[in-house]
Amino acid sequence: MNIVLFGAPGVGKGTQAAILAERLGVPHISTGAIFREAIASGNPIGQQLKHYLDNGLLVPDEVTTTIALEAVKGSERGFILDGFPRNRSQAESLAESLRADGRSIDRVIYLTAPLDELTERMLKRGRQDDTEEVIRTRFEVYEKETSPVLNFFREVDHVVEINGVGEVNEVHERILSTINQVVNGD
Ligand code: AMP
Repeated sequence: MNIVLFGAPGVGKGTQAAILAERLGVPHISTGAIFREAIASGNPIGQQLKHYLDNGLLVPDEVTTTIALEAVKGSERGFILDGFPRNRSQAESLAESLRADGRSIDRVIYLTAPLDELTERMLKRGRQDDTEEVIRTRFEVYEKETSPVLNFFREVDHVVEINGVGEVNEVHERILSTINQVVNGD
């Protein structure tokens, strides 16, 4: 099962991706988590990444795409992608790489929630990049760079919009009913 979880910062992609990955027994690939681990490990590449994460800016494609595609290639039984792709070039690289391997995306799950709820959730979460100023930048980047990727997906993939408001488990159940359609061959 090849799934992309798509949506604005704070919508719950990470939480839902983790539960879904566990349930389906496929890897959860989060570029954000990979970057945070690299920074925490104190390696030199991590130090170069820190500036982007701290300011809510996109890490350059040559780094991000290499890391993400490597993880996807290594996940032959399927994957849950969370936070990648985040711009058109990343989306094209992913599509090309999957196509070259005779694979495709089964579903793009587009999680939605009102803007004020997203901000509130992130402020509560309190990650290092969850300050009001950085949140504002991340929304701007999302609007400008990431949200157009949805149109790219809609041209070729099966995009399903799912309401991300509610208890974690409720949202998970909504996602699962979509996944069951894939299992049933719809
Ligand atoms: P996330 O955990 O998905 O919210 O990502 C946290 C941060 O990691 C983002 O604000 C970016 O700085 C960086 N990042 C994560 N995924 C990507 C990506 N696909 N392209 C560029 N930067 C990314």
